[in-house]
Amino acid sequence: MTVDQPDVLQIFRDTKALLEGHFLLTSGLHSASYFQCAKVFQYPWHAEALCQGIVDHFRTENIDTVVSPAVGGIVVGQETARLLNVRSIFTERKDGEMTLRRGFEIQTKERVLVVEDVTTTGGSVKEVIEVLNQSGADVVGVGAVVDRSGGSVNFGVPYFSLLQLTVEVYPADACPLCAAGSNPIKPGSRDLKK
Ligand SMILES: [Zn+2]
Repeated sequence: MTVDQPDVLQIFRDTKALLEGHFLLTSGLHSASYFQCAKVFQYPWHAEALCQGIVDHFRTENIDTVVSPAVGGIVVGQETARLLNVRSIFTERKDGEMTLRRGFEIQTKERVLVVEDVTTTGGSVKEVIEVLNQSGADVVGVGAVVDRSGGSVNFGVPYFSLLQLTVEVYPADACPLCAAGSNPIKPGSRDLKK
């Protein structure tokens, strides 16, 4: 099963990963939508459908291994690797620095696909690529489920995302939703009605 962009959006709405309304974000900004990617990956069948889209895009790249940054990328990495029938490993931070731990090893010239759930600045993925380059791996591309960068990221390798999502945010004193008379809801709070 392959999903196109409207289907991806519908999956996010159905799983309440994407909520629409009037929200007070942790940053203090207001927004008309709220997004929590992890809610999609509660459901393995959605994970399978989404990762299949990444697999379809990179199918001809002869990928040996999928690498993802912990924690958000692990489920996406595991499912993508399962569909490709290749190895899946992850990087994690130690003292703030992205590293391969747990005895995970990368061989010189190993063809690696980096996957992530959400790219915003692309910072974590760039750090993963750096770790892989130091190991002599051949990074063939980056796959993400959601791109929130607004098209601003450049990883220096082919990059594919299933859904491009721009969430507009407003300062509280310049929020059009407040101006229209509604009150923002803090996502995750008990009075969230969706
Ligand atoms: Zn507001």
